[in-house]
Amino acid sequence: MHHQSQVRDDQPPSVLSKIRSLVPDRPLRFSEAIHLAELQALRFLELTGNNIAPVPTSVVTTFPRIRVIDDPTLPIAGASHWNGSLREWVIRLNPTDSGPQRRFTLLHEFKHIIDFGAPGLRQVEAHPVCCERHTELVADHFATCVLLPKARVREVWATGTCDAAAIAARFDVPMGAARVRLAQLGLLDAEVSLNADNGDQDYPQSTSNRAEVRS
Ligand SMILES: [Zn+2]
Repeated sequence: MHHQSQVRDDQPPSVLSKIRSLVPDRPLRFSEAIHLAELQALRFLELTGNNIAPVPTSVVTTFPRIRVIDDPTLPIAGASHWNGSLREWVIRLNPTDSGPQRRFTLLHEFKHIIDFGAPGLRQVEAHPVCCERHTELVADHFATCVLLPKARVREVWATGTCDAAAIAARFDVPMGAARVRLAQLGLLDAEVSLNADNGDQDYPQSTSNRAEVRS
């Protein structure tokens, strides 16, 4: 069902193709995929010239061939699919979610679009459910890295904004995402860390299923 449409960017070298070019042509271990998500997030911010906080959602909403819509029927936070007839990606967001949550979901879905057609994660002992959960964690990590860039978070923290709620407000992200990021950066005592066994409960909300791809 997945990966059946031919998706091309007609404006090379597009930001999307530059970010995709960072992906090795082989299945990745979870830890490699996490590292790659951070690299892609950094590159994405560089390419779109965004070094302000909070990062505006226009980084995605103004992207060529991506349409972002509210879908009140959505039972989850977000989903994305390729519309073959209009030749565009559609990201659907849940309008009942908070603004910060919707920002997070938007970037999470954008990561699924980046990963479309990539080799993906290496199968771990033929546990597809596990692999799918890892895919969601990787998308969450990408969203975290874009919305909470390491250097900016450290900078803001150093100027005296030293608690998770203030960081969440400053970067306009869900509280859970701020706490995870601060723990990752060693700025908050970590009950949370990013590893394969930790589940995605540490992230603000399990944002979606994998990108649904329909041609
Ligand atoms: Zn997802």
